[in-house]
Amino acid sequence: MMIIMRTNATQEQIAQVVDAVQMNGLRAHLSRGTERTVIGAIGDGRPVDRGQFSVLPGVDRVVPISRPYKLASREFSPENSTFPLDGVRIGGDEIVIIAGPCSVESRSQIIETALAVREAGAHALRGGAFKPRTSPYSFQGLGEQGLELLAETRELTGMPIVTEVISPELVPLVARYADVLQIGARNMQNYALLHAAGASQHTVLLKRGMSATVEELLMSAEYILSHGNRRVILCERGVRTFETSTRNTTDINAIPVLKALTHLPVVLDPSHSTGHWEYVNSIARAAVAAGADGLIVEVHPDPASALSDGAQSLKPERFAELVEQVKAIALAVGRSVAPIPQPHQPA
Ligand code: PEP
Ligand code: MN
Repeated sequence: MMIIMRTNATQEQIAQVVDAVQMNGLRAHLSRGTERTVIGAIGDGRPVDRGQFSVLPGVDRVVPISRPYKLASREFSPENSTFPLDGVRIGGDEIVIIAGPCSVESRSQIIETALAVREAGAHALRGGAFKPRTSPYSFQGLGEQGLELLAETRELTGMPIVTEVISPELVPLVARYADVLQIGARNMQNYALLHAAGASQHTVLLKRGMSATVEELLMSAEYILSHGNRRVILCERGVRTFETSTRNTTDINAIPVLKALTHLPVVLDPSHSTGHWEYVNSIARAAVAAGADGLIVEVHPDPASALSDGAQSLKPERFAELVEQVKAIALAVGRSVAPIPQPHQPA
């Protein structure tokens, strides 16, 4: 349920409500809007008497949240959630672009890609060090060495790092290097991993499972949010259908649907959703036109020699075209691509 405080409620009154929520064995999640504070009281499904909260001083009204996901729902937080990704904010009017190779392969590969995508206008660098591959015989990533290369590249370029974590035990290690923990499609319902990522309080980019519904994606986000971690970015990356001409089918519908159902930022991955570099720019444009808050795109300096996902990786020149096209689409829908933050100048 949501306990909506009066606009003039005092800090003491809010604290009293939080105490009452906790005394009932519920978790209290505070959301301080521009107008008023809302306290989400989340339990484990057992019935709780709502009336006891509505009589507390400072409480305006108590309303149930009808959706099965609570903290992720727009009912809980009608305003868009925005949070910083280093120097830019995601979830607001500005579009954020994350780009880089599928996998970190070598020092020169990751640095060269980072410099190229930064030059083209990307805000953050992606690159997998731990790769969840369908085949155990495919390249599994460089592991911690890959994380070290990402840290070095961050140092050199100032770009925040988005990288995947594939098991709960690895969360502390990956969180030491990453600005954003990516949870991949194959792990969307790895509940131990969702709990660990939530508890880390790190920003999480949660990808939709390849056969998961929008509601299942939101329920997975709820696991992370239930730890008081507000910083969850949702990623549509295509779903599995009968169609074989593309690797997955981009569920473009999911973008406006998610924007209606949740306050969390929504990005699209046109690389995995199409599987072919030729289609990536078209689908990136479609995503921004449909209301996506950002993109995550695979770019490789030499896709033909990539150790993973070369077929869907853009060359840097093509990615630069994507950024320009997305800028034009963003303007057409009343938004803009976030400016690249200026590196901090020492005084
Ligand atoms: C990736 O981003 O490289 C990846 C493995 O994506 P997904 O989890 O969407 O398949
Ligand atoms: Mn990939």
